[in-house]
Parts: sequence; structure tokens; C-alpha cells
Amino acid sequence: MTTSMPPLSITSPSNPLIKRLRGLDRKRNRTETGLFLAEGTRLVLQGLNNGWQADTLVCASSMLERPLVQDLVSRAMADQTKTIQVPDRVMGQITRKDNPGAVVAAFRQQHRTLADLATTNSGIWLALYEIRDPGNLGTILRTADCTGLAGVILLETCCDPYSIEAVRASMGSVFDIAFATSDFPAFNAWRKDQGLTMTAASVNGTIRHDEASYSGKALIIMGNEQAGLPPDIEATCDTLALIPMRGGADSLNLAQATAIMSYEAWRQQGYAGARGATG
Ligand code: SAM
Repeated sequence: MTTSMPPLSITSPSNPLIKRLRGLDRKRNRTETGLFLAEGTRLVLQGLNNGWQADTLVCASSMLERPLVQDLVSRAMADQTKTIQVPDRVMGQITRKDNPGAVVAAFRQQHRTLADLATTNSGIWLALYEIRDPGNLGTILRTADCTGLAGVILLETCCDPYSIEAVRASMGSVFDIAFATSDFPAFNAWRKDQGLTMTAASVNGTIRHDEASYSGKALIIMGNEQAGLPPDIEATCDTLALIPMRGGADSLNLAQATAIMSYEAWRQQGYAGARGATG
């Protein structure tokens, strides 16, 4: 597909639309506008293909001739999405990168509650308690996507899944995996209603992570990067699972521990739905 009309060219970083897009690196501005940025042709395409609504598409003028960029421009214009072209230096200012990609888009955020998740499929769920590192959160969303988890629940005050760092680390999984936010009491009532057994990954674990059972409807809960899970929350869990360690470190990185837990749960379900060889 090719475009008949080139997108509007904006060259000044002080243009109000550019300033608005640049401001999306701040949580306050993301909350006010309800928008977030996703960079790169693959990510933008993934967002559009999954039905996420783009507010603005920005292309680097130097890469406008690329077929994939042209396709995105045609699609955005047909959808009445604001579509502009900018010089590389302005692209770099929007994405805060020295070597920016060909496109960046501002998408509308989606906010789900537990009630929105309750109607989705069963399987293995993941809850994250007060996690603070957007790189960890994005990486965890990617792992949740790769292991086909039913959904992710962000408990109490977690970092923003729509920050540039989290979206970047998710590699597009932010568009794929269902996630919702909740306080702990409402979440605990919901998971009991759903018949979900809750296994905490914890350095206080009393059973090895691969000896715990994740069959049927199961939920894994992970703790904060510094403090882990509070004792009263660990007390409400059915099982506390420890991933074995040796050496001097007192714990694993949160995203890596989540990957080990998610893969063990999926392994116990026979890697159902996996692409390619699973042994
Ligand atoms: N000092 C914290 C503590 O006492 O829990 C360590 C937090 S750790 C960096 C973040 C989270 O990763 C933990 O709350 C837990 O969910 C998970 N985690 C890290 N290492 C683990 C291990 N060896 N076994 C089980 N879970 C682990």
C-alpha cells in the first residue's frame, strides 16, 4: 500500500503537538492525557492489530519511503489518526533516544478492573505486589505473554505499565496481555471467588518452587523488589515457594524469579499451546 498524500511536516520542537508528545515521558502528563508512547514499526503495528486506538502517529521524514512506514501512514490516515513527519532530531527528542526508530505512536491507555478480568479465560494468573521498576514490569509482561498467563494484576501502588521504559521492555506484550490494578483486599476476595489457589514466590518459602502444584486455576504472587511480600500477605497464601539458591546473593531479580515461576507453572500444564518443539 502507498500513501497518496505525505503526512504534515513539523520541524520545530516547540510545536504544541511535539511538546505534548515529549511530555508523555512524565506520569502526570500520561494521566492527564490518557496517552502513552510506543516506538518502532513492530510495536506500533502490534498495538493497531490488537485494536488499541492510536491518537497520533509520528514518522521520521528520513524513513518515510520505507514500505512498512508507508503502510502504517496509510493505515493511520485512513483511521483519521493525526499523522505527522518530523526530522530525526525531533524524533530523538520525543523518544529520548540518540538513535530513534522510524515511527512512534501515542496510544490511548486502557484501564481494566478485576471485574473486566473475571470473564476472561482461566489458567495461571500472576499478581505483582507494589513493584517499582518499570524495566522489571515490562519484562514480566513479556514473560506473562510468552507463557500464556491468563492475566496480570498490579496490586496497591505499582509503577506505571504505560511508562516508556515499561512499554519498551515489554516488547509489545503490553498490547497482548490483560492486566488490571487492585488493592489487596479486593483482589484477595476476587481470587477466592474465582477459586484460584495462591502461591507466593518468597525467599521464606517452605516448599521448592517445582514441588508446588499449579494445576487447575492457580495464581502466583510476587513481591516488591526491596521488601518482598509483607508477612500478613504471605499468611493469606496457600503455599510459599522458594526457588533454590546458592552463593552470596539473598534473592533473585524479580523479573527473573517471575520467569522461573511462570515457566514451572506452564511446564506442569504440559506447555499447553506452545509453538514449536516442547520435547
Ligand atoms: N529482600 C526481599 C525479600 O526479603 O523478599 C527480596 C525481594 S526479591 C528481589 C523480589 C521478589 O522476587 C520476591 O518478593 C519474590 O517474590 C521473588 N524472589 C526472588 N528470589 C526468590 C527466590 N529465591 N525464591 C522465591 N522467590 C524469589
